[in-house]
Amino acid sequence: MEKKRLLDKLGRPLRDLRISVTDRCNFRCSYCMPAEIFDKDFMFLPKDDVLTFEEIKRLSTLFVKAAGIEKLRITGGEPLVRKDLTRLVRMLSEVEGIKDIAMTTNGALLAKHAKDLKAAGLHRVTISLDSLDDERFRKINGRNIGVAQIFEGIEAAKEAGLGVKLNMVVQRGMNEDDILPMVRHFKDTSIILRFIEFMDVGNTNGWNLDQVVSKKEIFERINKEIPIEPIKPNYEGEVATRFRFKDNGNEIGIISSVTDAFCSSCSRARLSADGKLVTCLFASKGHDLRDLMRSGASDEAMIDRMAEIWTGRHDRYSEERLSNTDKKQIRKIEMSHIGG
Ligand code: SAM
Ligand code: SF4
Ligand code: SF4
Repeated sequence: MEKKRLLDKLGRPLRDLRISVTDRCNFRCSYCMPAEIFDKDFMFLPKDDVLTFEEIKRLSTLFVKAAGIEKLRITGGEPLVRKDLTRLVRMLSEVEGIKDIAMTTNGALLAKHAKDLKAAGLHRVTISLDSLDDERFRKINGRNIGVAQIFEGIEAAKEAGLGVKLNMVVQRGMNEDDILPMVRHFKDTSIILRFIEFMDVGNTNGWNLDQVVSKKEIFERINKEIPIEPIKPNYEGEVATRFRFKDNGNEIGIISSVTDAFCSSCSRARLSADGKLVTCLFASKGHDLRDLMRSGASDEAMIDRMAEIWTGRHDRYSEERLSNTDKKQIRKIEMSHIGG
């Protein structure tokens, strides 16, 4: 297939697509879906508003045609709370041109599904784990789920032959003391651990710059006890800064959206569970593709619309964040709608 390139206003290609399959989640992480706000009265998307698997497959196929994307990442909310997700993975693995399908998950339901997901065509999982301390982890996830359940998911994913990475969001006052225990635990395994700076996504997590543990501080905390050194990115636009342990060469990463933004190479589009194309994690709104599709638009019309949205893109929120004094006035899409 001839490979297309679609460039935005800042010359950035569209390379990969993150698909949120649900806005619901079995966790209530304080930094993402705080339980006081996402409570029993919270209005999640009605079922009819959420894209069907057939619609997700069609849009993915059209993204390949519009921009030559090769990578898909399935996310949420929590993707594994969506019924029959394995069927979607199988459908997406049939899309011509897609070479890599990954999933970001909290891991709580992974032990049950890992084998089937792998058989359906999933290549890799990124599992979020913010602490090894059981009590602290139960508190962070807001659902009293213990660390052991996530480890069962990690083991099942490895056994199934899925690639496994771990994400840990670091928030000051919450889990900065977990950085070193996590490094010690995973450094001699095949699992790549990545620390994520706490970000001001959405409007509900009470973000404050003082709660951000910077890439520099994370690096120093690790390097002081276990020496690490920077290594080159795997590809242009990789979000994690990569390091390796000086003793065994294993990799570790830090994702620094706040203190060292990477907007200049940002090549990801996000599709929300209700079919909006979102061109930045911090956008106020997305561009509807669902209603256009449901109104009977042809493939050509859909591709034209996708191209129009991407080529009109000029987002660089993280590069502007610290100089934007009006930031309180910006209303942003919640993380649970677009999945990171
Ligand atoms: N539920 C899945 C999970 O937790 O892995 C997928 C969706 S979750 C929104 C995707 C990633 O975003 C997770 O690794 C999560 O830790 C991260 N995340 C959520 N809120 C964040 C925040 N405020 N700052 C930094 N990372 C955040
Ligand atoms: Fe759910 Fe993931 Fe958000 Fe935690 S980070 S509340 S697991 S969507
Ligand atoms: Fe991309 Fe927006 Fe994040 Fe910048 S702030 S890296 S444009 S998602």
